[in-house]
Amino acid sequence: MKNIKNKQLTEREKSINEIKKRLLMEKESLLSGAENTMTTMPKNSNLTELGDQASAEIDINFTLRLKSRERQLLKKIDDALEKIEQGTYGTCEACGKEIEVKRLSARPVTTMCIECKTEQEEEEKLRER
Ligand SMILES: [Zn+2]
Repeated sequence: MKNIKNKQLTEREKSINEIKKRLLMEKESLLSGAENTMTTMPKNSNLTELGDQASAEIDINFTLRLKSRERQLLKKIDDALEKIEQGTYGTCEACGKEIEVKRLSARPVTTMCIECKTEQEEEEKLRER
């Protein structure tokens, strides 16, 4: 492990710090976005009684689905942040090699290097056939 006391950040660590900031910002915007959907929902449904109940329900279903996708993303962001804290961020879960910073910065929540990810996607394609 690296010595934290006399800290001379490597380029990689600097990039990871940047990624961490971006993840925190994204997390925040996801959380405030979720609040916005909650507060705007009642306003959208102040139309007339009957027919609108159905459309209000559709709105709610849509919001829930959206939120479950947001929740998944939030989970990934939290996982990534936790790994950053533990110093295990940027290591491929499949092969244990370091993931390129370029890739991490393009897709901060990724947990696999490009080779493993490509391999996984190929396998998924084969399974679909
Ligand atoms: Zn890998």
